[in-house]
Amino acid sequence: MSARIGVGGIFIESNHFTEQLADRAAFERSEYLCSGELLARNTGVLGGMTSVLRANDCEPVPLLYASASPSGAVRAEVYDALKNELLEWLDNAGELDGILLCLHGAGTAVNAPDMEGDLARVVRERVGDTVPIVGTLDLHAHITPELLVNTDALLAWETYPHVDAFETGERGAQAIVDILAARLKPVMAMAKVPVITSAIHGQTQPPGPFANVMQEAKRLEGSGTLYSISPILVHPYLNLPDMGGGVLVVANESETDAVAVAKRLAKRYWEKRHELQPKTLEPSEAVRRGLQIEGGPVLLVETADCCGGGATGDSVHTLKALLAEASDQSAIVPVVDPEAARRADAAGIGQAIRLQLGHRLDPKWGEPVFVDGIVSRLSDGAFTYAGGIWDGRSGYMGPTAVVEIGPIQIVVSSNATYDWMTEQFDLLELDIAACKFVVAKNPMNYQQAYAGLMKAAFVLDTPGPTPANTNALKYTEMTADWFPKKTGVTIDEPTVFVSRQLDLTTRKLD
Ligand SMILES: [Zn+2]
Repeated sequence: MSARIGVGGIFIESNHFTEQLADRAAFERSEYLCSGELLARNTGVLGGMTSVLRANDCEPVPLLYASASPSGAVRAEVYDALKNELLEWLDNAGELDGILLCLHGAGTAVNAPDMEGDLARVVRERVGDTVPIVGTLDLHAHITPELLVNTDALLAWETYPHVDAFETGERGAQAIVDILAARLKPVMAMAKVPVITSAIHGQTQPPGPFANVMQEAKRLEGSGTLYSISPILVHPYLNLPDMGGGVLVVANESETDAVAVAKRLAKRYWEKRHELQPKTLEPSEAVRRGLQIEGGPVLLVETADCCGGGATGDSVHTLKALLAEASDQSAIVPVVDPEAARRADAAGIGQAIRLQLGHRLDPKWGEPVFVDGIVSRLSDGAFTYAGGIWDGRSGYMGPTAVVEIGPIQIVVSSNATYDWMTEQFDLLELDIAACKFVVAKNPMNYQQAYAGLMKAAFVLDTPGPTPANTNALKYTEMTADWFPKKTGVTIDEPTVFVSRQLDLTTRKLD
């Protein structure tokens, strides 16, 4: 018997500490897929899902799938529209035997703080309690009881930097196939500890504190009743109650095992919390230290302005330090500033231009800088990701200019885009290897993007909505103490919540 599985989702990582909300255009210039377009996707989570479904004689039935680059919360009317469109596809899909949702887990909408929990609940209401719902997540998910009780199995990426989107889609689809074949009667437990740290030391390649938890989780996975174990390093830039990292376990039938293993591994994560804390430098100090190092590039990691964490990318804090301390050194600095990009475009290549630059989209984090430069390159800003969660997908910086201030090349783009490798700089044919300094605005992916090339990397302490040190932010929704706000905080036990265990055997596959 072949089964019909609805495939869809809304995927975004949100940030509560930035002003800029996600509008419809943010999804439309990223991924807005339905019908044949969704089914044709052969990379990423969707590609993994559909390939395993087809290999198991299941028919993927397209719902809506929309993704956007990380940003502030999704506008209420945009979330409502996307949700209603997804439900409309669901209503028109005919009888379905299961639902696969590709989610991030740290999405938030103005009218739905727990966006994925809300989406899972309305999907559950539509399909009832006998149709399995399986979701895939980023390991930076904020997992809530609402999400857990409205899904049957949740599986997160196993890698950071995230290189396993396709494989995670495969695992999600395999879970639904296993449920329909009555090999898996899932029950989930999430054990959480109050740790809100940045992702700086969150790599999954050992050595590292999070890598250690991941290794142990994957060692246990598959033994006994343990079907899937997902360590979670919560996306730290949501201002929501009960934030924290921990471990999510999907067990076969045994809630006791799910709870016990989730708790045990969450305790291990808690024990590693001090190792997750970053060491940072002021930008001017980092530039001075970089000048002591022979050659380049030296990476200046301005992670507080990470577009991949929802920041607008418009900070010029590091640029100011370079202009003050090393204006005779070659450097590449990305700054998102649509007005400056428009003016550079209007001036044209080779033209001298005076620009106000930076802190235009999210002004509360700093003051703009006024610079005199030469426009050296112009581009429409369209590029293709060469791996990661958006492998093969297009990214749009919008109208983009390179403005040179002596040997400093500023990449002035119109839209914030997620950093994977160096696609944005490569589009503009910038010679990264020849630079003394490169400003990277992400906490992790720079390590793979510049591996073998960078002479050193310094993580900077600058104002912004995605800082390395989360103590710089005010989590007004957190009621209890958390690490590192209070470094000496203690806990008795991780907080645990569990899914419902539904009878999903009525639609068995042969
Ligand atoms: Zn992530």
